[in-house]
Amino acid sequence: MNEGAILVLSGPSGAGKSTIIQKASKHIGSFYFSISTTTRAPRVGEQHGKEYFFVSKETFKKDIEKGHFLEYAKVHDNYYGTSLKPVNTALQEGKLVIFDIDVQGHTLVRQKLDDITTSAFITPPTLKELEKRLRSRSTDNDKIIEERIENAKKEILMIKEYDFIIINDDLEKAVNEFISIANAARLKRSMEDKKDFLKNWLA
Ligand code: ADP
Ligand code: 5GP
Repeated sequence: MNEGAILVLSGPSGAGKSTIIQKASKHIGSFYFSISTTTRAPRVGEQHGKEYFFVSKETFKKDIEKGHFLEYAKVHDNYYGTSLKPVNTALQEGKLVIFDIDVQGHTLVRQKLDDITTSAFITPPTLKELEKRLRSRSTDNDKIIEERIENAKKEILMIKEYDFIIINDDLEKAVNEFISIANAARLKRSMEDKKDFLKNWLA
């Protein structure tokens, strides 16, 4: 059996998702990190094709019409979407595919690919700590930070939909928890795979 698997990571902007993925990346075997497409402007230091594919609203809308997205959502007034093609290729290669997507995206992925999906919600221990981190990251202005805080209050209500919660207080502990979850996600098998196994086992 060499079937791919999906790990969805969600959590408020500033929760530490990028930091955790980056620190864990050497310890979770081969994986494909899905690079999303977005209409938001790049932050200082962000590169097209690395953190995101940065496109105009017109291009994004055309991609929606062409059916290019596995899922997409409007978050803080910008569109964000996951392209279908590279995800399908990585899954066919048996890879673990990691998504950093919002709670709406998680619901859509669950609707389409539930039986190969594992999910984790990452959050700082408190709302106050989240605000502190967004301010110390210094990548967004006050208005954007306030929008992100308001959005976080709504997003946190969706934690019950997730398999795991990572409370990112001690970073090293959070990274280790993420590594365990990624390894478990890789072992998840689809219903089809279980049926095939059973057929062969009984033959
Ligand atoms: P996200 O990808 O979820 O938006 P980032 O990974 O950019 O979040 O992290 C937001 C900020 O918080 C960054 O400046 C990062 O260095 C910092 N950070 C991440 N984890 C911790 C932690 N456990 N304790 C303190 N600061 C943290
Ligand atoms: P940021 O602007 O901080 O990079 O991301 C804002 C939010 O958009 C985060 O919650 C992030 O997980 C989410 N996001 C990033 N890419 C996608 C995507 O392709 N689809 C969806 N639904 N959400 C995304």
